[in-house]
Amino acid sequence: MNRLIDIAAESDIPAAYRAGPLGALLRYHNLGADMPKRAEKPELLIGMCMDSRKHLRIPDNFAFILRTGGANLRQSEFRVSYAIAVGGVRAIALIAHTNCGMSGLAARREPFVTGLVDAGWERPEAEEQFDRFLPSHEIGNELDFIVSEARRLRTLYPKVVVAPFVYRVEDDHLCAVRESGPPGSSPR
Ligand SMILES: [Zn+2]
Repeated sequence: MNRLIDIAAESDIPAAYRAGPLGALLRYHNLGADMPKRAEKPELLIGMCMDSRKHLRIPDNFAFILRTGGANLRQSEFRVSYAIAVGGVRAIALIAHTNCGMSGLAARREPFVTGLVDAGWERPEAEEQFDRFLPSHEIGNELDFIVSEARRLRTLYPKVVVAPFVYRVEDDHLCAVRESGPPGSSPR
């Protein structure tokens, strides 16, 4: 089953997202919808990967954006809470992407270590850093990860709508993710 929902028309936007800022994000970025130069206030928190290949088409002031390796917010909870509590957002777009370097990270140990040595580190220190942080930064399969991260944040912030999306670097499109699991867990 294809787990990505292509958003190429208004009717592709999952009903649960249509009225709020998640629908607006999909319209601005994928559908080329008209947008103000500047939003009145941010209504959305976007969590996305630090990867350089991605650029979102959104108005200024539209969203708080947290960028990390793999859109992994496990070490950014204070910042998420801040955007919700002080910033007042009630929606989170978690954006994984295809071809993410944080997926299958263990295979990149040697380039990581030699790269740091090249930048002035001692080899044992570089190895120690990689090995220490590997478990908390490896995301495994991008799709499975973003769905589990969305579920984790829904549990933490029950009144916040959390949507897992995937940015396809091949065509710069955002896709929604079809979630498996108990009824109601998937945006319809
Ligand atoms: Zn990435």
